[in-house]
Amino acid sequence: MARGRGKPDARPGGKGLPPSQRPSKVCPVCGRPFVWRRKWRAVWEEVIYCSDRCRHQR
Ligand SMILES: [Zn+2]
Repeated sequence: MARGRGKPDARPGGKGLPPSQRPSKVCPVCGRPFVWRRKWRAVWEEVIYCSDRCRHQR
């Protein structure tokens, strides 16, 4: 049986990506940097705020 290391994932935010290589942004509301999260993998380019809370505060 082959030991799978997982498929090579070229996309940013791939599962095996070390935190230091994950993309990050700065939230304009609270001014804090936030790092890519898995839940954003489909919408990362559209993500502006670190959380729904900040998004609603605007
Ligand atoms: Zn924020």
